[in-house]
Amino acid sequence: MNSTELKFGIQSDLSVFADTLVEMTWEEVRASGERGDSVIFPIAVVEAHGPHMDLSPDIYYAYLFSRFLKNNLCAKGINTVIVPPYYWGINSGTGKYPGSFTVRPETFNAIMFDIFSSLKKWGFSKVFIVNAHGDEKHTAAIEKSINEIKQKLNMQVYRMDNLDIQIENKPDFPDQREDRFDPDIHAGSIETATMYAFYPQKVRKEIALKLKPQKGFDPLAYCGDPASFVLEKNVIECFQANVELDSLKIETILNNDKNI
Ligand SMILES: [Zn+2]
Repeated sequence: MNSTELKFGIQSDLSVFADTLVEMTWEEVRASGERGDSVIFPIAVVEAHGPHMDLSPDIYYAYLFSRFLKNNLCAKGINTVIVPPYYWGINSGTGKYPGSFTVRPETFNAIMFDIFSSLKKWGFSKVFIVNAHGDEKHTAAIEKSINEIKQKLNMQVYRMDNLDIQIENKPDFPDQREDRFDPDIHAGSIETATMYAFYPQKVRKEIALKLKPQKGFDPLAYCGDPASFVLEKNVIECFQANVELDSLKIETILNNDKNI
């Protein structure tokens, strides 16, 4: 594991395993569990992202965000392990597009429970979920799983994309464009620009630049204005600020635990 090479910018490595638990030996996992390390769990989906991107953006986003989070926490002296990214989620909004795998909520809940049971067996008890997919049925299934896991496995589980905790000295977020097409929620300007900034090989730029804005997912499986992605100037700074914010939240939670 060599997380020191991680840089905010183009990623030449397309692996989604680098720096995760699967690159450790079982003895290293055992030692990490026994130390009481925290766990970062990237959750995403395989999902249609317009005609201009492949099906992987949510997976890469959740994975890369988790890696930067791990790095950032490591610099604060907090050890973590990353679960390999999970991507058999629920696609209700884009489920009709080929390639958007979807599972039943009960399947999702069963797998989550088994994954967390495994983590618990190895000694891990604090898990921070990095979810990159906003579909309501998907997030509802995550919430249901979290409740069940907290009750039956007595673990601490936090969903970073839905974690309302007060932070002093929040990082500065860059200004947002005022002329952005609204809504911009799926494979639109921001998401396309973010992928282009980190994984340019995943964006079919010539196609993106020709797309018309869409207010809903139909007919081309995006919601927003992909063509204007070239006008987004601050996606890396914004990503970086979000990593910093989430690492401050995790640090606060862990410090509160110590003080109890
Ligand atoms: Zn996405």
